[in-house]
Amino acid sequence: MTLLDGKQIAATIRAELRAEIDALRQAGRRVPRLGIVIVGHNPASETYVANKIKACQEVGFEAERIALEADISEADLLREVHRLNADPAIDGFIVQLPLPAHICESTILSAIDYRKDVDGLTPENVGRTVQGLPSIVSATPRGIRELLARYNILTAGRHVVVIGRSNIVGKPVAMLLMQRPYLSLPGMSASSLGDATVTICHSKTQDLPAICRTADIIIVAAGSPGLLTAEMVRPGTTVIDVGINRIDDPASPRGYRLVGDVDFPAVSPLCNYITPVPGGVGPMTIVSLLQNTLQAYHEHTR
Ligand code: NDP
Repeated sequence: MTLLDGKQIAATIRAELRAEIDALRQAGRRVPRLGIVIVGHNPASETYVANKIKACQEVGFEAERIALEADISEADLLREVHRLNADPAIDGFIVQLPLPAHICESTILSAIDYRKDVDGLTPENVGRTVQGLPSIVSATPRGIRELLARYNILTAGRHVVVIGRSNIVGKPVAMLLMQRPYLSLPGMSASSLGDATVTICHSKTQDLPAICRTADIIIVAAGSPGLLTAEMVRPGTTVIDVGINRIDDPASPRGYRLVGDVDFPAVSPLCNYITPVPGGVGPMTIVSLLQNTLQAYHEHTR
């Protein structure tokens, strides 16, 4: 069993990005600038935003935190999105989710200029990805694909089972891995990507264990600790655990610890490859946001 070390791969990619930014500076060019809109004071969102800003600083990007009060109206938030769309100093921006209940997320996301949509969540970017057109791919699917590519794990002709059908993970990762490999990203070997046969499962799927046992690669993005058990995995499978779940742990100083969706102790001995949680997909998601920002910068400054 080999651990897919997202932390290590993400560090390698950050070093590559840093070298590229150093070269830009030496050439007298400005550096990429990412805007991050955060609405309200959700503690998890605050942590995610702080991590994204830190990641920007580590590679030499500029980051602008735009903090808005939880009671902002949808119209005012839309105005802020339009302002960022028009701001020439911003190469890309994200609106940290979730938004307060009185704001419609899809209305806000749809208003983002797809060329600045570095989370890859606008209908335009999703549609372009589906059609194989140049697009910004959402961060977690991009990170999963990059992790597979960097470990030379082929997907062509293999059966990938995706558990979860969300717009941010399940659906786009399924779409990416079934694509013809013309959607290759800079630095990736196109031949190792795409061309998979993909099955998407969700909470209404019947006999999930039987479907999983036919998989070469299982990607679990359900948000359900311990969902993937040893009985669902045949020997030699590759398992990508996207889940991030807090479970109570009185022995931990924080009173909780993070686990994925996989029963890791039971499943990992069966696997060829498996991602740990934490340290697997999570670091890849953040570094993919940086790669998307650089991609948007290059388009913006062409
Ligand atoms: P959503 O809640 O939007 O979607 C979860 C999906 O899993 C749904 O499609 C749901 O089915 C399905 N599901 C839930 N329980 C089961 C079950 N018992 N059997 C089969 N399918 C099930 O979650 P997200 O996609 O946003 O996130 C999933 C997990 O990944 C979360 O833990 C989240 O924290 C984590 N995450 C991690 C990231 C990272 O960087 N590592 C990034 C993004 C998310 P149905 O549609 O029928 O309800």
